[in-house]
Amino acid sequence: MVIKMEKPAICGGTPVRDTKIFYGHQYIDEEDVQAVVDVLKSDYLTCGPKIAELEKKLCEITGAKYAVVCSNGTAALHIACMAAGITRGDEVVSAPITFAASANCALYVGAKPVFADINDKTYNIDPASVKEHITGRTKAVVAVDFTGQSIEEEELLNICREKNLVLIEDGAHVIGTKYKGRPNGSIADMTTLSFHPVKTVTSGEGGAVLTNNEEYYRRLLLYRAHGITRETDQMENEPDGPWYYEQIDLGFNYRMTDIQAALLLSQLKKLPIFSKRRKEIVARYDEAFSKLPQIAIQQEIPESDTTRHLYILRLIPEKLTIDRKQFFDALGAENIICNVHYIPTYYFPYYQKLGYEKGICPKAEKLYEEMISLPLYYAMTDEDVQDVIRAVTKLAQYYAK
Ligand SMILES: *Cc1c(COP(=O)(O)O)cnc(C)c1O
Repeated sequence: MVIKMEKPAICGGTPVRDTKIFYGHQYIDEEDVQAVVDVLKSDYLTCGPKIAELEKKLCEITGAKYAVVCSNGTAALHIACMAAGITRGDEVVSAPITFAASANCALYVGAKPVFADINDKTYNIDPASVKEHITGRTKAVVAVDFTGQSIEEEELLNICREKNLVLIEDGAHVIGTKYKGRPNGSIADMTTLSFHPVKTVTSGEGGAVLTNNEEYYRRLLLYRAHGITRETDQMENEPDGPWYYEQIDLGFNYRMTDIQAALLLSQLKKLPIFSKRRKEIVARYDEAFSKLPQIAIQQEIPESDTTRHLYILRLIPEKLTIDRKQFFDALGAENIICNVHYIPTYYFPYYQKLGYEKGICPKAEKLYEEMISLPLYYAMTDEDVQDVIRAVTKLAQYYAK
């Protein structure tokens, strides 16, 4: 997108570029377009052959035994919570710095989200804090692979096994990442994915739940489609005829269309090059920003081979004369249009009214005050990356304390 700059850069001089660059953008090529057109000309727009093909492909990529695709990542979290048997009165330990859906899913099933704090170096949920927040009512942990870096699988799984909890991994950012050489998606009890356009691969809207557990798989299929089954061994009554099906539970219409599945199948062919490019950009950002005393770099656990979905610029307030809002605006004036991921979930009025108070996750709250998401997407050119680096460097030096 080309939008002409109108205002001069806040810190003076010429902006580093004269067209705007945004924090994320999907990459759709002719092959993707053709894949969608082919489905539109076929017999099935939904519930057709592309769904099974996509689920098989996701299993191949992640090493999971079962995949259930659905309408979006939030629906995936909802049916994962249902499949885990989370219900009214239960507690779910979740992360504070994430999209609201990571905690909303607990509310959907009548459970109470409990926020554990993050590790302030990796920004992922801290297993020690998770442990502190477990009570007799805790049923599950929803841990988010924030920015695409793997959660500390081993530590979290050990805690969950010891306390008899279900580990649900909100992997909306994680596709393409490996933990100890294993792709994320085959490790936690269930892993959810999102294919929203800002994520690494997209189907427009879309999601999936991955699991190795057959019982969860069976329930996920039911909850995705109204609680209806066509499997005779699941029915209570004898089928009246070939048309017969039974609703045996209460589910939703969370199906994905074949149009979306075809787009995602085409996108997944590009996952290796998407992943490679994102790693290159992150490496260049890290190298440049590690030289700036005003900036902190997100640390990685050695177990995670990360395909980064987001790049977090963390400001060190003691070393700067301006705050995050001012730095954000100054980047905008340089035509680098950023974002902030995320506002702590319990800051929202809805959560405040439920009784959550500010101050419960101090490390997450501090991170929120200091973070900016820089542009990171496959189609960024080397020049784009250089412009972002030049803008951040210019501002960090200009506003250095
Ligand atoms: C995007 C996202 C979701 C929700 O996915 P949708 O497909 O938009 O419903 C959930 N959790 C996290 C961490 C996300 O980034």
